[in-house]
Amino acid sequence: MSIVSSTKPFMHTILTNSAEEAAAILNRGGVVAFPTETVYGLGAGICHQEAIRQVFRAKGRPGDNPLIVHISHVIQLANVANEVNFDAQKLIEHFFPGPLTLVLKKNPCVPETVTAGLQTVGIRCPVNPVAQEFLRFAHCPVAAPSANLSGLPSATSWEAVYEDLDGKIDCVLCGTPSSIGLESTIVDCSGSHPLLLRAGAITLEQLQAIVPAIVTQTTIEKGASPKSPGLKYPHYAPKAAIILCLTHETMVTEPSSAYIGLSEPPQGVSLFKLCESLEEYGRELFSFFRHCDAEGIHRIYCEQPPVQGLGRAIRDRLERAAGHE
Ligand code: AMP
Ligand code: MG
Repeated sequence: MSIVSSTKPFMHTILTNSAEEAAAILNRGGVVAFPTETVYGLGAGICHQEAIRQVFRAKGRPGDNPLIVHISHVIQLANVANEVNFDAQKLIEHFFPGPLTLVLKKNPCVPETVTAGLQTVGIRCPVNPVAQEFLRFAHCPVAAPSANLSGLPSATSWEAVYEDLDGKIDCVLCGTPSSIGLESTIVDCSGSHPLLLRAGAITLEQLQAIVPAIVTQTTIEKGASPKSPGLKYPHYAPKAAIILCLTHETMVTEPSSAYIGLSEPPQGVSLFKLCESLEEYGRELFSFFRHCDAEGIHRIYCEQPPVQGLGRAIRDRLERAAGHE
């Protein structure tokens, strides 16, 4: 793919499909977006302090919202975590590499700029082959939040990354659209009991089959302050208003409205996405939100799936996008 210069005054953003070229930019202290199976990530080497600061600036991310550290192989865990307890080991055995982030006590090598001052670190080993290749070429583990402007829907394609971050980052490693489309499941294994902090494609039911003690934070202490700092910020919201609706509910539509869900769309919507499965719903959700914004849609009706399996993660993203949490 040819190298493209940004038209914006700030920084040249290179588009490439070479993981080696993208990693070379990262290794020189650059900020590089890269594909993963969940959503695109915006990476900086954890050994490059200025690049880490640029990740926060480019996204407009609050400084107290920590970044997840990405590794190419489980062997690298010892470089970033201090203590991998029995529950974490079992989860790693079953779900690494894949769409699961584990929060563990951090190794002193991980700077506090990455963990936003916390003594724990979120660690993930993506399974996407392009992400794997990129991380193998990287000289140190890669801190990466989702590659979107803070508050907007996550980017699930390189085009969406480019739309948000052209002129603000050094490079986009262009891969295929994310196969899952929702951010990773996050489990905190740093405390006395394992806690699901964010629902994702690895479901609570799958996690509990391996570590039965895992619970959601609400199960433990209703109203407790979230253990994941990012959860207190608005997320995933398109410009259009999100209207949550249940199956079979009569939806009142109006011009410039859209619909996404598993049941037939209501009459009169200008745009709709009828999904055949929860997997398709999750994969398409954020790109549909962005498409609706591009088309000038004012309201998006979203069918709420039941809170089980992948439905839990979709519900979570819908409720946050609607500003309900
Ligand atoms: P994003 O990178 O945009 O997908 O967001 C990452 C999420 O992981 C945010 O909600 C962070 O607050 C959360 N996170 C990252 N590191 C930690 C940590 N050490 N402890 C708790 N939550 C974390
Ligand atoms: Mg994010």
